[in-house]
Amino acid sequence: MEITDLVGTAVRSGVTWGADAVRRLRARSGFDGPRPCHVLVLDVDDTLIDTAAAMRTAARAGALEVWPQSSAADRERFGEHFSGDPEGIFARYTAGELRFHEMRKARIATAASDVGLVWESRRYRRFCSGYDPAFAAAQRLYPDAMAAVQAAERWGITVVLLTNSSNSATRMKLQVLGVSERFEHVVTTDTLGFGKPDPRIFEHACALAGAAPADCIAVGDNYANDVAAARDAGLRGLWLDRSGRGIGGEPPSIRALSELPAALSRAV
Ligand SMILES: [Mg+2]
Repeated sequence: MEITDLVGTAVRSGVTWGADAVRRLRARSGFDGPRPCHVLVLDVDDTLIDTAAAMRTAARAGALEVWPQSSAADRERFGEHFSGDPEGIFARYTAGELRFHEMRKARIATAASDVGLVWESRRYRRFCSGYDPAFAAAQRLYPDAMAAVQAAERWGITVVLLTNSSNSATRMKLQVLGVSERFEHVVTTDTLGFGKPDPRIFEHACALAGAAPADCIAVGDNYANDVAAARDAGLRGLWLDRSGRGIGGEPPSIRALSELPAALSRAV
């Protein structure tokens, strides 16, 4: 936080100006000390936005269009499988092996097979007529998301969004949530034709904001894609693990974005 911001905050808050006020205001803002990085490379899905929940809701709506006679329990299981993607089909999309709609069709087919529903590819548009509006309507920012973004920006850090989703889907999400004008830099799988964990996408995200990877910190919910891959590309990585369970002996860096300012302070 710049000193002028602190003065302004003090005046607006009616705080008597002085060293003690600076200390208290910095403590209230959630961070202190020198800026830890120039750029925060921030994941979107399941980091800023609860995408998994939106996908489960949307997949159930798509299934209802295609299989109106299916049971609620079957649609629930279909949504879980579609969202969970245990076959790793989304990773083939981010590697550039599948196009977006090929990826989605493959996930419908495997989820349908799991539930015992008969899927015909010619019904894809029907599925989308249920899925797409339900997905848009189900978009939710995590309650701690924008406060963390604002805290970083007050610190003078440039926030770059880096997502493995498509450009059109990402634009829709940000627009529905009223934050489409909020982010100057948004990098998607369409930007270079592939996504994380390829190190070149991290290098591109850093270069967009004019920073070297060593001066950037990546934050996201997917340890392999957002943290390990970022570190391989020369960035520092902070892992957001809302479950708090950790993975392979690696503990979470943070369990909520509300912990981000303090974690950044420690990353100086
Ligand atoms: Mg994510």
